[in-house]
Amino acid sequence: MTQAASSIPPRLAVIGGGQLARMMAEPANALGLPLRLLAEAEGVSAAQVIPDHLVGDYRDLATLQRVTEGCAVVTFDHEHVPTEHLHALAAAGHAVRPGPEALVHAQDKAVMRQALSRLGLPCPRHSVVESARDVVAFGFPCVVKTTRGGYDGKGVWVVRSEEECAEPFATAERAAVQLLAEELVDFRRELSALVARSPSGQAAAYPVVESTQVDGICREVVAPAPDLAPDLAAQAQQIALTVAGALDVTGILAVELFETTDGRILVNELAMRPHNTGHWTQDGAITSQFENHLRAVLDLPLGAPHPRAPWTVMVNILGGPSDAGPLWSGYPHALARDPQLRVHLYGKELRPGRKVGHVNAYGEDLADCLERARHAAAWFAGELGDHSE
Ligand code: ADP
Repeated sequence: MTQAASSIPPRLAVIGGGQLARMMAEPANALGLPLRLLAEAEGVSAAQVIPDHLVGDYRDLATLQRVTEGCAVVTFDHEHVPTEHLHALAAAGHAVRPGPEALVHAQDKAVMRQALSRLGLPCPRHSVVESARDVVAFGFPCVVKTTRGGYDGKGVWVVRSEEECAEPFATAERAAVQLLAEELVDFRRELSALVARSPSGQAAAYPVVESTQVDGICREVVAPAPDLAPDLAAQAQQIALTVAGALDVTGILAVELFETTDGRILVNELAMRPHNTGHWTQDGAITSQFENHLRAVLDLPLGAPHPRAPWTVMVNILGGPSDAGPLWSGYPHALARDPQLRVHLYGKELRPGRKVGHVNAYGEDLADCLERARHAAAWFAGELGDHSE
């Protein structure tokens, strides 16, 4: 399909109706780019804002064929579309971005570890384990994780004895997936290096950020990572650029990293889509990760990834133990208290532990940004006092 000959923009298919697809819609609107969405159910986060949507199962090839009809390019809100379906879409002439050969490294942690080791990139010691015996041989304590299907810390266990291996193996058997054992990394903090890469090979690297996870869920991101040694920052960006190039990633690649207590960087895992650790870019960078994802998958020149302010803090809004949070009713207080606050809600109801939105606060002073963002997120989640204020 020749784009140059037409003044009509191409239609981009997005598979998956979560908040990442919803947040792609904002820059898509600004760029005048029509999206077509495959949503899991009527009314899910992205279906609320993308009128051209179809409801169906992304594991069904006929559904994928129907939603991608007339769409030159296909991209994703999640990494769960079966590889054989991606090949079928590519064979039918769609540009699948990222493509199946790249995406498998974000779908399968054993494949990812093999590829990174082949590239000589620093990883925790690891081994695929078939039985509790294998884990004993690997050595305790260690981390055992399912090779496929994990997210937000589900499918990750710290194990210290043979008995503790029972649950991971039972889970893996039920899900028909393998398990990977990794050394329990003694880390100072978690970092993330985000790059956008286009099929032509142009790449843009965002500043390396620090992310804080609680119970496997990203809670907070500080951009750039405070006090990160410049050589480690450069190494982290270089790792992300190397992975993106070597695996032919198109769109956003997030490389989750550990900064160890002895000052090394190790790769934890890869995501090939806009990522929670990049949400700060919506308000804190010249070009957001969502816009650069769209530009990259359409092979357009990328936008500048540079920060707009010395610091940006992103804090996720998570449902607390009670579901009586203010969300919408939290606006008057949150916005009056902090006119510079940027709020992003996903159109989801508050449920305990569920990510329903995030806030970004940027400015000159890190402590101030942290206080403002934390306060607002807690307020929207209904964790703070009297909401009648
Ligand atoms: P998910 O696919 O659920 O995001 P991850 O592999 O990123 O799973 O693991 C979730 C969290 O578990 C990580 O953010 C980190 O805090 C912890 N973790 C994972 N692997 C290790 C490891 N090898 N050593 C120490 N902690 C780990």
